[in-house]
Order: sequence, then C-alpha cells, then structure tokens
Amino acid sequence: MVERSFKLYDSLSRTIKPLETIEPGHLRFYSCGPTVYSYAHIGNFRTFLSADLVCRTAKALGWKVTYVSNITDVGHLTQDDQADAAGEDKMAAALKSKEGESFANVWDLARYYGQKFEEDWRTLNLQEPTVRPRATEHMREQIIAVQNLIEQGHAYETPSGVYFNVESFPDYGKLSGNRDRQNLQNAVRDVVQDENKRQQADFALWKKDEKHLMQWFSPWGWGFPGWHIECSVMARMYLGDTIDLHGGGEDLKFPHHECEIAQSECATHKPFANHWMHVTFLQVEGEKMSKSLGNFFTVRDLVNEGHDPLALRYALISVPYGRPLNFTMQTLKDAAGNVGRFREVERRIEAVLGELPTDAPLPEGHSLERVYHEALDAMCEDLNTSVAIAKALEGMKILLRQADLTRDDAVAGAWFLKAINDLLGIVRSDYAGISSEEDGSPLQVEGKTIEEWIEARASAKKNRDFAEADRIRDLLNEKGIELRDTPQGVTWIKR
Ligand code: AMP
Ligand code: ZN
Repeated sequence: MVERSFKLYDSLSRTIKPLETIEPGHLRFYSCGPTVYSYAHIGNFRTFLSADLVCRTAKALGWKVTYVSNITDVGHLTQDDQADAAGEDKMAAALKSKEGESFANVWDLARYYGQKFEEDWRTLNLQEPTVRPRATEHMREQIIAVQNLIEQGHAYETPSGVYFNVESFPDYGKLSGNRDRQNLQNAVRDVVQDENKRQQADFALWKKDEKHLMQWFSPWGWGFPGWHIECSVMARMYLGDTIDLHGGGEDLKFPHHECEIAQSECATHKPFANHWMHVTFLQVEGEKMSKSLGNFFTVRDLVNEGHDPLALRYALISVPYGRPLNFTMQTLKDAAGNVGRFREVERRIEAVLGELPTDAPLPEGHSLERVYHEALDAMCEDLNTSVAIAKALEGMKILLRQADLTRDDAVAGAWFLKAINDLLGIVRSDYAGISSEEDGSPLQVEGKTIEEWIEARASAKKNRDFAEADRIRDLLNEKGIELRDTPQGVTWIKR
C-alpha cells in the first residue's frame, strides 16, 4: 500500500495539516450526534456523512478506526442560541408539540426519534459507529465529572445549578476565537440567568429542576446535566483522555466544543483533541432550511417521494465539507443520473461474469488502479469529494467506452466498484444485501423468505388489493424488516 498522509483542515490551528494518530494507524474519532427530539434533516446528515467519509478514508488507508457518535437525549435547550435564555429542554418541548401527542412520555419520544435516526443513517449508507452512546445512559459518569470539576476549583454551585468557571481556564475561547470575556455573554448559548453566577459567561454543568420531565438525583439535588458535559464524558470514556479527531457542524464550534475543551482539559490536564473538524452548513435552494420556507427536508421525506437514497447520499457529499453546499432538486436529479451509471456498469459486468463478484482481484497494471488511487489521494486532501467523485465517474467512462467488456475489464470493473464504494458509499448500500441469519440460511418471516413476501406484495398491488399489500409491509415491519420502494425496485433492510 502506498504511504499517504491524510490531510484535514484543523479548526483549532486554522491550517490544513496531516491527521496524526496517537497510536500509529489507529484513529480515535468523536463526532457529535443528533438531539433526538424530531427527525434529523438533510443538513444534519451533511455533517454525519462527512464524519462517515473520514472513517472510510482512514479505513482505505489501512487504519483501524474507533468512531464514537453520540445521541443527545437530554439537556439541549430550545433557546440556546439567545443570550441568557434558560429555555426549555428540547425533548420536553417536543412532547408538548402536535407531533408529541402520540408519545406516552419523553422517554418514549426519545426512543422513537433515536430509532428513526438510526434508520435514516442506514438509508444513507453510513457505516455503523463503533459506539453510539446516549447521554441518558451516562448520567452517573456525568455527575462524577461535574463533582471532579468542583473539587478541582473549576466549577461551583449556586441555587440554580452548577456552573463552569470560565475564568479558571485561560484557554477558554481558543477554538472559536471568542476571547472577549465582556462580550461573551452575548454569544454564549446555554447560559442561564442566575445572579449568583460569578461571570455571565459561566455555563451550566448541572441544572437543578425538580419539575423537569427527565431528572436524576445528584449531590446538588434533582436535576439534569448541561448539554456540553455529556460529550466530554463519553469521549473520554470510550476514546481516552486525548482523542485524535473531534468533529461536528460549524455551529458547534461555539459554545459546545469550546465548553467541551474547557471541561475536558480541566479534568485531565491534557489536550482534549489534537484535530478539530467542522462542517459548513448545508443550504437548500440558496437559503437556510426552515419549516416556514417550505425547504426543510428530512431523509425520509425525500426517500418516500421516490428519490434513490444513494442519489441523496451522492448529492449531499458532492461538494467538499468545508465549502457551502446548496442543495437543489436539480442536484438530486443529476446525482440520480450518475448513480445510474454505476448500476449500468454493474449490469454490464454481471453480463460478462455472471454474479458480481465482491472480492475480484485487480488484474495487474489495469488503468482503473491509477484512477482509484487518484480518488483516494483526493480524499486525503481534506476530503476533496468533488474530485474523488469525478474519479469514480472517470472509471465508469473507461468501462462504458467499450461496447463489449473483456473479462479482464469486467474483473477490474468489479474491483473498482467495490473499492469506490468502500471509499464513498455511493455505488450500493451496505445494508440492502443482508439476507441471511447467522447460520447462513435465508431470513424467513412466517415461513416465507423476504423476497417471496416482496413478490406477494407486488402481486397484491397488481390485483389492486392494497389492504393485503399494506398488511405485508406492516408484518415485515413488525419483524424489523423495512421495505423500500426505489426506482430500481423494492429493496429491504433489517433494522
Ligand atoms: P443537532 O441535532 O441540532 O444537535 O445537530 C446535529 C448535527 O448537525 C450537529 O453537528 C450540527 O452542527 C449539524 N447541523 C445542523 N444543521 C446543519 C446544516 N444545515 N448543515 C450541516 N450540518 C448541520
Ligand atoms: Zn457534542
């Protein structure tokens, strides 16, 4: 394997530099996950997809990857973008909304949206993280971390909660550049108005609230954690005191990541993360996504309208993560056309080789090897996805140029498609092909294989027996099998 350095822009040093791992060849990566009070939107997924591409690139270089992507299910406030807004917990507010009516309680709501988030994750063909920890499942560790910060003199208690004393950490502001203490109050989110706080900018580690829908008992009474402490705690628990890379969307730089650094570095007296990655926000039709503008898309909205999930993935990664991406329906249409070219090549290869081999060796000296390495080189240049995708298409052009594929070209094509898919995930879904249980026999539901159920559903639809078609979909759904109607036919995944 060619030795390459994997360069990424580091938001802390504000330079593009090689991503260096503490343990050679082993990336320890933490990327902030969603707050599960609603369905995630495609903007959120631009950020998660960028993290997925970091992992795929590292694996293509032969590295081991330990990737932690959390789920925030408590502590994130509704008005956390306004100075001094105490706000309401996002989960609690969602329960009171119209959509919230169908949930028994806030735990039920969090579980539901958490599950839907994981489904969308698989729909867009993101690889599973090594650990997906939840804030509510790490309460004890968060309480201990807060206690430790108090003991070390970095935090203090008031009648409303426990606050981090930003004056005690001279580096506060090093990531975001927000160093003007006087003005911090205007920018700091998640700041609770409490006249007993030492400085306005001191942020909450614990909030006392006996009425909160999700509350835990702590040395400071009943309450819930501040939003930032969960990530400091879970990153340390699963990845160690210093991690190689930390990521999230650009809005997280301040205050979330700034606060994480303060908490973690005061706890361990070591650097928290050696490299920081922030993803530029996605816009839709040139504007910020918002429900009132009617340009707010979730993954399931688009897939249910019949868009191919792989085309959506393609569109969302088509522009490098550091540049603005303006998502339009035209981008999605173009993406579908290009994803179709991969399918066309797959069909041609199958025509020569029979079934598409998944472990085809590359015939020596084949030109597709160079094209693949150029794609990988582009990914190693700060995840230059537009060049990497252009290289994937260049490979398709080489293969489609010939009316009849030779056997060698077909084998090289199979190798290339697999290598490109491992790197970019845009050729085929890693989840669609799951068709057997652990013992190797085909998965069955009530005596029929999934393929047989899909056929039965198709013939029910043909006979206009929609009730039966729906019954089949629901039956499979109950067993954790989700059917997907795509332009290429019905596929399924096991949840
Ligand atoms: P949240 O669920 O609000 O905590 O957001 C989950 C992730 O999505 C965070 O890393 C955010 O920074 C990121 N994010 C939110 N909106 C966008 C957007 N429009 N484009 C890219 N990333 C976003
Ligand atoms: Zn976080």
